[in-house]
Amino acid sequence: MNSVEVPGPKQSVPLANDYVEAGLRFFPHGYPDYVPSPRDHVVIYICDECVRAQQVWKSQHPNWKGQPSQ
Ligand SMILES: [Zn+2]
Repeated sequence: MNSVEVPGPKQSVPLANDYVEAGLRFFPHGYPDYVPSPRDHVVIYICDECVRAQQVWKSQHPNWKGQPSQ
């Protein structure tokens, strides 16, 4: 498992429930998906296995971002 520093979330943008649920189950250590903040940074842990699973899941679910809320 590797620690990486990434931009923190700028605001909470709801993602599709399917993606959130799959992420918790299948790739809890994947990269975060949100609108990044220009100021804040957070350190997260990722692992190769989860990042791979995340990419596979996304390629199988092209609409994983869901509907943007206005
Ligand atoms: Zn993992």
